[in-house]
Amino acid sequence: MHGGHKPGETAARMRWEMARKTKNVAEKVNKQIKKSEVESLVKRLVSTPSHCETPTREKEVAELLNEFLVDEGVRSRLRKVEKNRSNVVAVIKGTTGRGRSLMLNGHTDTVPPHAKDVRAFKPRISSGKLYGRGALDMKGGLGAMAIATVAMERARVPLQADLVFAAVVGEEGKSEGTEDIVLKGPKTDFAIVGEPTGLEIQPSHRGLEWLEVHVRGKAAHGGQADKGVNAISMAARFINKVEDELLPKLASRSSRHTLPPTLNLGVVTGGQQPSSVADECIVRIDRRWIPEESLEQVFQEIYDVFDSVRDDHPEFRAELRRDMANMKTMTHVPNVVRKSSRLVRTLDEAVKANTGRKAKITTFWGWTDAALLTHFAKTPAVVFGPGGAGAHARNEYVKTNDLITCAKVYASAAMATCRAE
Ligand SMILES: [Zn+2]
Repeated sequence: MHGGHKPGETAARMRWEMARKTKNVAEKVNKQIKKSEVESLVKRLVSTPSHCETPTREKEVAELLNEFLVDEGVRSRLRKVEKNRSNVVAVIKGTTGRGRSLMLNGHTDTVPPHAKDVRAFKPRISSGKLYGRGALDMKGGLGAMAIATVAMERARVPLQADLVFAAVVGEEGKSEGTEDIVLKGPKTDFAIVGEPTGLEIQPSHRGLEWLEVHVRGKAAHGGQADKGVNAISMAARFINKVEDELLPKLASRSSRHTLPPTLNLGVVTGGQQPSSVADECIVRIDRRWIPEESLEQVFQEIYDVFDSVRDDHPEFRAELRRDMANMKTMTHVPNVVRKSSRLVRTLDEAVKANTGRKAKITTFWGWTDAALLTHFAKTPAVVFGPGGAGAHARNEYVKTNDLITCAKVYASAAMATCRAE
């Protein structure tokens, strides 16, 4: 029967046709995502060391990824960030520039192997778990992103806007790789960072600031301690005040977007030898700050503790410094992307389509490069990746079923965002 449809029926039919087309395209792409291929790529990535003690750092792993993409016909290149350290930047060009461009972003570096992990770079799969240093953080997510990119290329799905794959250096260090992307592009409308989330969508996390408190004393002989000022004792008073006054304040705070703020007293160093009154003591602090706090407030609250110590001990002298060991030029701000954002909704639908279950929308507990993209590049970036255990610890593994799910979700999100025709 033709020509007899009511307008409502025609619209419904068009929607049905569209849905059928979308489903067909998705099936075509998913057919290109094979479990054995994802696992073998992730194994190759894990067996290529790329931690800070590797003499060539991320060089080999970046070359491996770049070759893998180029061999598949993807336009990919190595782009130098620092000596021996290159990002892999690959693009599947959009045909019209309409639609929204998407970046799949993952870091190529890992932390060094655990001293007791003898097979850190000899990946193995057992009971659905792929073991090895970096399997979870984050060569698993990175491999799944590369496979998703290749699947789009193989299926020849025409996209309207660009799909970018960026494998970046140094996230475990100063985030040099993503800083370079923020400064030089490519700039996309949205980004997904593939850090491990156990298939939860995590559009937000806290900021991360490292601080140093340099407490100054006055040196003297230990036998005439009253002639000096002991910097270690003064640092202890500072620490007590932090615990008694600042920590309860932080514990009473909460965030609409992230986990509550924290402060960790990480390292204390000071003094020369037992018979000397210490003239310096350094306290190193990790401070996780929420979007409702500001960096100025973070600093001010430490100065307030200084004042409080000085009320009881006027000889207290201290200086607050930012510890730049974990950042280059961009402050590690919190990441906040609204749950109503188009990217979150797209990921939500992609998870449902590929797992049959609704994804949880939660918050990431650590800090990621997503914050630099969202804040400094104005590219809303959301964290989504596989599950597992042992990141930065012993016996790290990623769940192999999650690898295949992630590759499919990344591809579905790319199709929806960059609008497959
Ligand atoms: Zn990571």
